[in-house]
Amino acid sequence: MVGNVQLGGQEKIVLQTMLEKPAKEIEENLAEIARLQDEGAEIIRLAVTDTLDAKAFPKLKAKTDVPLVADIHFDHRLALAALDCGADKIRINPGNIHKKEHLEEIIRAAKEKGVPIRIGINAGSLEKDIETSFGRSPKAMIESAKRHVAFFESRSFRDIVLSFKASSVPLTIAANMLAAKTFPYPLHIGISEAGTLKGGTVTSSLGLGAIIHQGLGDTMRVSLAADRAEELRLGKRILAEFGLAQAGKLIVCPGCGRLAYDMRPLVEKVEVYLEENPANLTVAIMGCAVNGPGEAKEADVGIAGGKGEGLLFMKGEVLKKVPEERLFEALVEAIESRKK
Ligand code: SF4
Repeated sequence: MVGNVQLGGQEKIVLQTMLEKPAKEIEENLAEIARLQDEGAEIIRLAVTDTLDAKAFPKLKAKTDVPLVADIHFDHRLALAALDCGADKIRINPGNIHKKEHLEEIIRAAKEKGVPIRIGINAGSLEKDIETSFGRSPKAMIESAKRHVAFFESRSFRDIVLSFKASSVPLTIAANMLAAKTFPYPLHIGISEAGTLKGGTVTSSLGLGAIIHQGLGDTMRVSLAADRAEELRLGKRILAEFGLAQAGKLIVCPGCGRLAYDMRPLVEKVEVYLEENPANLTVAIMGCAVNGPGEAKEADVGIAGGKGEGLLFMKGEVLKKVPEERLFEALVEAIESRKK
């Protein structure tokens, strides 16, 4: 449990994201947490870079019910401070907390508080001896995790989440598949440094899609160098494709020689409308009346454009003809009526 959110042991992948400001920027972070919760964030991670960040946790937690995770690198004292201040989960890379006794202190404190720890294995920061023996490979990532997991287990700590991240899609997929066979713990899935909104959408969809298709993953963060809301929207889209979330879908035909009207401005307008007014519906915009309604049979509502007028249809059945200049309004009316 991360606060009141369960990880693992259910047909669900919990969506999470990470804030761009350090935890101590309390007012800005509270506004961002509320906005991202509305976008579907179920867990939120914050960077803890000094004790002020750790001390921000009680103030943040007083005003939000989303579980908050403290992200720690190198300094074990920050992990202890975050645990002391009420973090719901700690994320560490044991590879950069070098002293055994420091790790032991973190484990002891987390156990006392009943707080889980994510052990994050990153292909870019493997132990030297492991990388020398196995290269930067799935096996190397698993060997690194085995070493850390054995340490935690030998201290009777099993409240563990594991993650295996790399910027290479095939490496991430293979490491997660191997991890699922090796460890009984929940998996946090993600592609690190996935990139910009456009490039990262491709990389994340491929990598996370392949992992989810194997039935793996208990919590997921899509990493994009973009507005965090975009990460969550993409995360929801990916989950919705696998039937693990409910999200609207916009189907658009690519257009061909039969395209009978200026479709793209309409597509852009509808896309913005659906972003601002999410509907748990499949909406179609098709280029012609010849194939449109048939090809988009599965759409809850759709329009197929024509010369000067188009067709409004629902589940492949044509409802009425609509003048071209009223296509947007007619589609929006149909979407809203289906929501009721
Ligand atoms: S719906 Fe019509 S315009 Fe669009 S691709 Fe199919 S045939 Fe071409």
